[in-house]
Amino acid sequence: MAHCCSDNEYDPQAKSVAEAREAILAASIPVSGRESVPLGNALGRVLADDIHAPADIPAWSNSAMDGYALRSRDGDTARRIIGRSFAGHPFNGTVGAGECVRIMTGAVIPEGADAVLVQEQAVIRDTQVYPQILCTAGANIRNAGEDLRAGALALEAGTWLRPAQIGVLASLGIPEIPAYRRLRVAFFSTGDELRPLGSDLGPGQIYDSNRYTLHAMLQRLGCEILDLGRVADDPGQLQQTLHSAAAMADMVITTGGVSVGDADHIAELLGRLGTIHFWKMNMKPGRPLAFGQLDKATFFGLPGNPVSTVVTFYQFVRPSILKRMGKTAPWTAPALLLPLAEDLKKKPGRTDFQRGRLLQTPAGLQVAGVGRQASHIMSGLSHADCLIILAAEAEHAKAGSLVEVQLLEGLV
Ligand code: AMP
Ligand code: MG
Repeated sequence: MAHCCSDNEYDPQAKSVAEAREAILAASIPVSGRESVPLGNALGRVLADDIHAPADIPAWSNSAMDGYALRSRDGDTARRIIGRSFAGHPFNGTVGAGECVRIMTGAVIPEGADAVLVQEQAVIRDTQVYPQILCTAGANIRNAGEDLRAGALALEAGTWLRPAQIGVLASLGIPEIPAYRRLRVAFFSTGDELRPLGSDLGPGQIYDSNRYTLHAMLQRLGCEILDLGRVADDPGQLQQTLHSAAAMADMVITTGGVSVGDADHIAELLGRLGTIHFWKMNMKPGRPLAFGQLDKATFFGLPGNPVSTVVTFYQFVRPSILKRMGKTAPWTAPALLLPLAEDLKKKPGRTDFQRGRLLQTPAGLQVAGVGRQASHIMSGLSHADCLIILAAEAEHAKAGSLVEVQLLEGLV
């Protein structure tokens, strides 16, 4: 057994992050319920059907620039302006030899024209345009169907809708989309020491901060959230709350009470109520984790230390939620490889998820730790924009070495 001051934290009985995530994902079955959602409310929802383009996008060949629509084969000879084609106001005639049409970005290319001369490359005198360059056929024209052909697969079922996908659906003219129903997630905090915000703290008491962090993380994922409050370390109350949580939700999450000290009565309780595994995780922070099935609900018992709650949520709960929401893979955030700007301390044995900050340096993007890394230091996490993942066997990462980094903030 490891001794308290050992330089190695390896525990042969502990589960690796990858092993645990694999088991969790295998047990995370997507919801099948679906509903129609107005596009304006569809951000963060998952498409339940493939979406095909009902028509060519763009529907008409149109100009990519402000300029003059003309026939390329007439070379650099002067052209007479015979009309205009503005966005929403097409030109109805035909462009013939020695002619052109004043055209704006997005306006329909008139009959007869096969190129657009950019206005900066034209000299205008009266109604004559003198091209300063030769236009090739197709120059500055966006062809009909260039983005999507009528009938083409625009978005696949299982797509998680971000702003760009909402934009594609809008460009197809689709006002309502088929979405999987939202995942219902019930959660509560456990601990005799926890007090609600706004109350005075007695000796040994702390504010129930995890409940707010969890709520925010679930909000980001667009879950239907059922906040069941805080429950004391009392087997009777815990049992009752777990029961009602499992009856009302697809997933139940608790924080606290899974560490070795007080795990025993919860483990015993959950063992009777469902199929729950208590895992000792080979990671830091976040050693204890409970996972399994409670009636029809997926159950996660996260460690109570605030940073552990967040790190285990991102590594295990978020992938499970995304999969259960109906999203297709990937369910985990990608890892980038970046050079370390400083030495980082680490003991071999457990995968470290250190809180880090990206640095713009003259040598390019680098990453540094945020300082104190203990699992109760929430302020460190609040200054972090990434997690630095140091492999279980690694020891003292050196400045300049490449490390895996997971960004906490997505772009969209
Ligand atoms: P536990 O996992 O219950 O052993 O708790 C580990 C540590 O996290 C203890 O210091 C707890 O006081 C703290 N903790 C547990 N739950 C919460 C919570 N909801 N908010 C803030 N800290 C918590
Ligand atoms: Mg506790």
